[in-house]
Amino acid sequence: MPRKKVPFFRPAIAAGEINEVVATLRSGWLTSGPKVQQFERKFASAVGAKNAVAVNSATAALHLAVEAFGLLPGQGVLVPTMTFAATAEVVRYQGAIPILVDVDPATLNIDLADAERRLKAATAKVVGIMPVHVGGVMMSLQAISEFASKHHLWVVEDAAHAFPASWRKSKRSRWQHRTNGSRSISCYSFYANKTITTGEGGMAVTNNRALARRMKLMSLHGLSHDAWGRYDGAGSWDYRIVAPGFKYNLTDIAAAIGVHQISRAETLRREREQIARRYLRELNNEELELPTIEKSRKLSWHLFPIRLRLSRLRINRNEFMEELQRAGVGCSVHWRPLHLHPYYRKVFGYRPQDFPVATAEWKRLISLPIFPGMQEEEIVHVIDTVKRICIRNAR
Ligand SMILES: *Cc1c(COP(=O)(O)O)cnc(C)c1O
Repeated sequence: MPRKKVPFFRPAIAAGEINEVVATLRSGWLTSGPKVQQFERKFASAVGAKNAVAVNSATAALHLAVEAFGLLPGQGVLVPTMTFAATAEVVRYQGAIPILVDVDPATLNIDLADAERRLKAATAKVVGIMPVHVGGVMMSLQAISEFASKHHLWVVEDAAHAFPASWRKSKRSRWQHRTNGSRSISCYSFYANKTITTGEGGMAVTNNRALARRMKLMSLHGLSHDAWGRYDGAGSWDYRIVAPGFKYNLTDIAAAIGVHQISRAETLRREREQIARRYLRELNNEELELPTIEKSRKLSWHLFPIRLRLSRLRINRNEFMEELQRAGVGCSVHWRPLHLHPYYRKVFGYRPQDFPVATAEWKRLISLPIFPGMQEEEIVHVIDTVKRICIRNAR
């Protein structure tokens, strides 16, 4: 029998994306142009936002968002410690201070009770909060909004995993994709392995027109708005630099992929959900804890994290992962929390015990493969392998 290999992820690119890219290459317009505009309109409508600014990564979107809120050196921003590098690093780009916050053990999303304690203890003036919907498990949007308005904070949602996830207050409420207040921006990622992709790409959306205009301006060198007309021939060669902006714009080639991925986003989400249901049903070993689904949420299923019950196993997380890899099952960890990285330890003096939940949970976390187009035999191989490792190493 040939050795099976299941990758951690395989992108789902179809003929629509390929043909649109080819058409764009033939169109004579490669950088930000009509495809980017179309992508922005489609995305804004998909998440119920008034404005969308397409950029070349979610990191760029997050940076533009905190810049648009006028984040200044020395100010504080509440950031969950369970997140990717980008969320806190954009705060550092502005010379501001990421005030790390512990997470809710059930979802691994920011713990607002802990956020409140850290806000009160902070010496810096705290101006914003950056919740992360980890793995596409939405936070309560109402809880974020109430917390932000109580403490006069702006909200920048790191929604890198969260399209097309949604949340609703009750059975009778409508599904919502994001906080939609006037002091709120949500940032999405279209990196190669995210729920929809443009290879590299990101989107910042907001209902606040002034914030959207600032992000648009800063995404292309701070050139006056007219300059954007350059690509349809209506713009002027005689642009004005109104701020020292960045070079964050998305190409039409990438946007050509994006417009088709948006159309397929819900289909792709359902495919991941089917795989998740299989895992939830079949990975019933006592050595494991599986994600819980609440009726108030539609998960994007960007990730399928399992947690090991270490007291029931004779091996640790790393050894468990080595066994998965030996059996050809791709896996990963989301994430080593920020407070356990050398930069944040050294510069801000964070210690493991300052974040007891994140410190304990990350040691038992493993993300399993979950992606559209996963073959039946691949799913079965993941399930069999995980179960076998549990049985072989049960205490
Ligand atoms: C992937 C990711 C980002 C960064 O996205 P890019 O598009 O690669 O810049 C930010 N935050 C989280 C939580 C992510 O997973």
